[in-house]
Amino acid sequence: MTISQGTPAPTAGTIPAFPTATILGYPRIGPRRELKRALESFWAGRTTAAELEAVAADLRATTRARLGALGLTGNSAVPAAFSFYDQVLDAAVTVGAVPERFAHLVASDGTLDLAGYSTVARGAGALAPLEMTKWFDTNYHYLVPEIGPATAFRLASDRLVAEVAESVASGVVPRPVVVGPVTFLALSKAADGAPDGYEPLDRLDDLLPVYVALLERLAAAGAQWVQLDEPALVTDTLRTAPDALAAAASRAYAVLTAAPVGAQRPAILLAAPYGELRESLPAVALSGVEAVALDLVEGSVPSGLTDEVRAGLAAKVLVGGVVDGHNVWRADLAAAVERLDALRALGAGVAASSSTSLFHVPHTLDDEGHLDAGLRSWLAFADEKVAEVAVLGRALVSGTDAVAAEVEAASAALAARAVAVGVRVDAVRERTAAVTDADRRRGDVAERREAQAERLRLPALPTTTIGSFPQTVEIRKARAAHAKGELATDAYEAAMRAEIERVVRLQEELGLDVLVHGEAERNDMVQYFAELLDGFAVTENGWVQSYGSRCTRPSLLWGDVSRPAPMTVGWASYAQSLSDKPVKGMLTGPVTIMAWSFVRDDVAKQEVADQLGLALRDEVADLEAAGIAVVQVDEPALRELLPLRREAHADYLAWSVGSFRLATAGAAPSTQVHTHLCYSEFGEVIGAIDALDADVTSIEAARSRMEVLGELEAAGFSRGVGPGVWDIHSPRVPSAEEISELLALALGSVDPSLLWVNPDCGLKTRGYAETEASLRNLVEATREARATL
Ligand code: GLN
Ligand code: ZN
Repeated sequence: MTISQGTPAPTAGTIPAFPTATILGYPRIGPRRELKRALESFWAGRTTAAELEAVAADLRATTRARLGALGLTGNSAVPAAFSFYDQVLDAAVTVGAVPERFAHLVASDGTLDLAGYSTVARGAGALAPLEMTKWFDTNYHYLVPEIGPATAFRLASDRLVAEVAESVASGVVPRPVVVGPVTFLALSKAADGAPDGYEPLDRLDDLLPVYVALLERLAAAGAQWVQLDEPALVTDTLRTAPDALAAAASRAYAVLTAAPVGAQRPAILLAAPYGELRESLPAVALSGVEAVALDLVEGSVPSGLTDEVRAGLAAKVLVGGVVDGHNVWRADLAAAVERLDALRALGAGVAASSSTSLFHVPHTLDDEGHLDAGLRSWLAFADEKVAEVAVLGRALVSGTDAVAAEVEAASAALAARAVAVGVRVDAVRERTAAVTDADRRRGDVAERREAQAERLRLPALPTTTIGSFPQTVEIRKARAAHAKGELATDAYEAAMRAEIERVVRLQEELGLDVLVHGEAERNDMVQYFAELLDGFAVTENGWVQSYGSRCTRPSLLWGDVSRPAPMTVGWASYAQSLSDKPVKGMLTGPVTIMAWSFVRDDVAKQEVADQLGLALRDEVADLEAAGIAVVQVDEPALRELLPLRREAHADYLAWSVGSFRLATAGAAPSTQVHTHLCYSEFGEVIGAIDALDADVTSIEAARSRMEVLGELEAAGFSRGVGPGVWDIHSPRVPSAEEISELLALALGSVDPSLLWVNPDCGLKTRGYAETEASLRNLVEATREARATL
């Protein structure tokens, strides 16, 4: 096969040139979160579908222009990867896989309008939306398609085709991006009513003709290359074993490449982001796809290849994902050039790319003028990463000399970063180096239980909440005004104290046993700590999509972490001064702080985790000294950072659990340590929950009707546990009867002396009306349950 250079329109049998620089995807939300606003006003009925379409078309046009200006100029260099909500939902809608319960929203030609699409994503009334879950090892959530034996696949959306046509009409031949068929089915779940043992992947052969039809339409619209994302192929932790995924990939890509490149299909780039292609590498190499994108940040240049695999790769363009798509650090261009050179030796052509789509990072550093200039020079957000791949592309075409200045500047920034003040703080390193196993060990569990019972004198089935109370409009306004300098710190703090008092009084009136202060003073459970710890910076506009219109603004963990001063003690002791009941001290754990920040890539994660662990350990000690008897350290993201490869799990669990224990093991036996976990599906981390050695674990359980308790029991867990009895994800108020039922279920598998009663998670997104009513029912159901003990 020969790779022709710059052929404008492919004729059958010739492969169009692949651009030397590209990215696998770009943020969709807009530099000013334009899409978020447009979606939310459409959902609220303030704007029409046509107005939403117009905002989206504008955003796509701006993105195309921006990417061109930043150097993605080759044919097919610009990805067409827009989504109104989620790329997996888009794939489902495209192939007609809309669950039966939404059938009334689907038009007779199979299409779904924006209102219908939104309903599938978000639900409506009793109509449950698609389930949402984490996308590989990122903080992005996708919607889980439901596939059953009766799912009738058909090409049911021409949105992507229209996006290609729109782009071509504007003078840019784009590379449309679709979730590939193997990943699509591997991430789907069996529809309700499917027989036992049914796997969506069983439907691969039925699905492929729809992809074939889609490819033909994309070619007709002018696409010369299409990108099929197959991250499932880099994992060994999905339901489907890697060998079965590899076999599915062989079958799928044999079908998709059966027709020659030309009128029937564009050339295919198979992208394998988020990890390394291992079991599936032979299948991919021997397939007929014209190009393969490898993640060279998480994986390495393939080596030790058989002759057959080598020959397969030698016929393809190899796209080197050398610029980290889901972290924010400026690339080491010199190292990237070397990796691309190694890749060039293996393929029929080579191109520079991001390792993953860039939608995991904010749009641009242009908005972050407030950041320290040094720190800023070590960073690259999406636009800066596009510029990086463009430089690398030029290096591939014209040689490294052509970009010597850029490579040198990147190396200089890295060198400066390595020695910058705060990046390596000797006192911090000495402290982590001196940590011993004893520092991660608390005393005997039984002794602790006795000391805590004596001190806390709680009734059976103690009631509590997870930490936050509703973040009211007044709280948000006060915080915004304080941030702008319009509200003096004294006045702001007085407002927060008033809020804390209100929350404490309310809990006393409701009759809860272990109180919280309500977290009114926290803008976010991670950023609050990031702002108070050394080693962090926060962005002004660094929003990234979490799901749909929801965005988060991760903090930047750039240096060695330490705690210049207590962070929560003032608020906690104020709250405790208002009540005779115990008030929980509330901290975010090391793993969650890391999961929801952009973490430095120049030291081992274990080192970062231990630095955080020690900072939190000091905070726990200060809370204890201030008379706080219960400390909760939240780790809702424990599951999230679990590696996509089993072989890495033991190491991950060792450092993550180790850092939690470092944070908490300094507590006296009479101090009760709680932890909180949510986002259900604990799977592989279930054993680790016991290893955290917390006295009490509150855990999301309402929606799954206490399922997790069985899993915990099977894992030998016998500590205090508070399975959520109120699903706080919707405004619905659970009745006392419902809560009683859940409590009865829980008492079926948990010893009454260990059972706590609490909601699934914090209440910050709830309103006061439903919060009060629900907690009243929770307390009432608990009183009734106590009477039966
Ligand atoms: N303590 C936090 C809260 O109540 C926990 C939030 C979470 O688990 N995501 O808001
Ligand atoms: Zn939670």
